[in-house]
Amino acid sequence: ASKAVGRNRFRLFDAGLRSCLEMRRDLERDLSHALVENALEVWFQPIYALDARTLVGLEALVRWHHPRLGWISPPDLIAAATTAGLTESLLRFILDRVCRMMQILRARGLGTVRVAMNVSPREMAQIPVDEIVIERLVTLGLPAEMLEIEITEETALDLGAVQGKLQAISRAGIRVALDDFGIGYSSLSSLRQLRADRIKIDRNFVTGLSASDDKRGLVLAVLGLGTLLGLEVVAEGVETQEDLQMLQSMGCPFLQGYHLGRPSPVQDLEAVLFAQQPQAA
Ligand code: C2E
Ligand code: MG
Ligand code: MG
Ligand code: MG
Repeated sequence: ASKAVGRNRFRLFDAGLRSCLEMRRDLERDLSHALVENALEVWFQPIYALDARTLVGLEALVRWHHPRLGWISPPDLIAAATTAGLTESLLRFILDRVCRMMQILRARGLGTVRVAMNVSPREMAQIPVDEIVIERLVTLGLPAEMLEIEITEETALDLGAVQGKLQAISRAGIRVALDDFGIGYSSLSSLRQLRADRIKIDRNFVTGLSASDDKRGLVLAVLGLGTLLGLEVVAEGVETQEDLQMLQSMGCPFLQGYHLGRPSPVQDLEAVLFAQQPQAA
């Protein structure tokens, strides 16, 4: 009997593994079609100043609704692109939508609003992100200052491989933000090495900070670090009015989260943009 159970277990495991690999392969195959057929979307989430009213940025977040598998999480999507050799096509697609958004903002007198785009260290290591991005801005005549690259430090090893490219990006006038600060491998020395202009405090330390001394302590420390190093600090994951008020009283200069605005498709951003006062350029 125990032998039979063992065999069954093996078969179950085998089936699970096979379907997992199949899903991976499906994703990779379907992604190349999705890219050609424009089935991918880029949504944008607002980032506000301390007053929680003045729009200072829009973060681009990729979205893919797979006809059979439903919503694919961005990390799964990026991973599939990496293994399918589609890293560059995907980056170019997202960059295209990001540039369109910059053009929309400029046309509405909102040229001081920055558009942020996420790039993983793996993408950065695989392809010449610096050249691709700079070339596109120059071709379209868009100011480098309007673009921000958000990078997450995934492993300690990633740093060296992407440092040169981030420096080129920074020299071109594009802003660099270190995403998910406070977790993983993010460190003080990486802020310098990566040429970061901005720190985004990971939402694990932001969501619920009004009820947690530990979280508040960490956020205060990062705010102090920002002042000391001349870096802008963004709190992400602001989900409640209590957390918002606490962050405002702490003087957190930039705020992002569901309570202030969810990621939305471009056509739904009208109200967000309409609420802003155009600035004389
Ligand atoms: P991230 O860059 O830290 O982006 C913030 C994530 O938190 C987004 O999830 C956003 O929808 C979510 N979020 C925003 N406000 C709140 C809030 O108040 N509460 C909670 N619980 N969540 C909030 P999303 O879009 O699923 O993206 C997850 C991660 O995938 C991103 O984390 C980013 O690292 C990566 N990602 C997303 N789009 C791209 C992309 O175009 N390229 C690359 N390389 N990575 C991307
Ligand atoms: Mg981000
Ligand atoms: Mg983040
Ligand atoms: Mg994240």
